[in-house]
Amino acid sequence: MASALQAAMQTDLLIVGGGLSGLSLAMRLQAAGVDYLLIDARDRLGGRIKCAQHDGNAYDLGPAWFWPGQPRMLDLIQRLDLIAFAQQAQGDALYEDDGGRVQRARGFASMQGSWRIDGGMAALIDRMAATLPVERILTGSAATTLTDGTQGVSVMLADGRNIDARRVALAIPPRLAAASLGFAPALPDTALNVMADVPTWMAGQAKAVAIYDTPFWRDAGLSGDAMSQRGPLAELHDASPADHSAGALFGFIGLPVAARVNQHALEQAIRAQLGRLFGPAAQAPDALHIKDWAADPFCATDADQAPLFAHPRYGKPAALSDLWGGRLLFAGTEVAPEFGGYLEGALAAAEAAALTFCAP
Ligand SMILES: Cc1cc2nc3c(=O)[nH]c(=O)nc-3n(C[C@H](O)[C@H](O)[C@H](O)COP(=O)(O)OP(=O)(O)OC[C@H]3O[C@@H](n4cnc5c(N)ncnc54)[C@H](O)[C@@H]3O)c2cc1C
Repeated sequence: MASALQAAMQTDLLIVGGGLSGLSLAMRLQAAGVDYLLIDARDRLGGRIKCAQHDGNAYDLGPAWFWPGQPRMLDLIQRLDLIAFAQQAQGDALYEDDGGRVQRARGFASMQGSWRIDGGMAALIDRMAATLPVERILTGSAATTLTDGTQGVSVMLADGRNIDARRVALAIPPRLAAASLGFAPALPDTALNVMADVPTWMAGQAKAVAIYDTPFWRDAGLSGDAMSQRGPLAELHDASPADHSAGALFGFIGLPVAARVNQHALEQAIRAQLGRLFGPAAQAPDALHIKDWAADPFCATDADQAPLFAHPRYGKPAALSDLWGGRLLFAGTEVAPEFGGYLEGALAAAEAAALTFCAP
């Protein structure tokens, strides 16, 4: 075992980050016969893709949707034999004002036309990982310092291990890389400033999922969509499994980061709000899961704690091209040539990185 581990500590291409972009890049390298290793800091793969499991169903705590105009997502879902289904949007939406008064809004379905994956987005990650040899993937392996040499890059891990690679692809948000990785020699200030300036999409968000036996609100002609001025959930949607074997509602938490710290108080307030919106039965879900991405050190930095109100303009900044003679490259959704920030962007970024690495 020790010698196998030793042998795995050198590679042509080291992918740092096992989210959608890192895994997609790994699949492309695998298909092209390129020697690679993928490391992830967490003890799981998927990054911002994460599901809560309850009674055999998976509920998205990160991304839930993709959209019909996203060819790479459609292709991947098809190739991995996954089933997509339309976001539930039938029925009336609800609007709660800042005094907690609730009104019905007929014919309003803000996420109509969005698609979900049966089994949750984690099913995508599981199927992708299953196509890759296990010995190529090291979880629980956080990169801490990257040192450039003439022959390649040496990457130090948090537990003291080293991986020597000819080239490194950072499939992590640039802002997170700037805040959490050491670079020797230091990267140019222009590069570091640009990295720190790229907001990590949705990193300041928190999501709550309430799980029930059935999607009972549908019987009352409600879609599960709601907007609230009062909170703590600002925007809610139906998150039930495709086969209706259970019911679920999810909401984005509209409170500032500091006001989300008291978990018990937050849960109580969410239950009360669900009751105001969907009736007494909604107040007592079988399970209530909360994921605060802003508090996750492998997603968000201090700069991500303030909410974003618009989708940033993403893309590969010129300052991040040709770093360390091309031995250091970015490959996460925030540098995608198109659909930056989204799942489709993660796949687009991996595609662009693979073109570099797989070039003859
Ligand atoms: C709440 C929420 C809702 C969202 N909703 C949607 C949606 O509906 N549709 C959509 O298209 N997009 C959505 N997104 C965005 C989507 O999640 C991202 O576009 C996508 O998951 C990014 O993938 P990635 O691989 O580029 O980055 P990440 O998923 O962030 O992966 C980066 C990986 O790097 C690892 N890592 C970090 N630091 C280190 C280190 N030092 N060493 C080793 N590994 C490290 C992390 O553990 C992580 O696994 C949402 C995001 C959130 C948080």
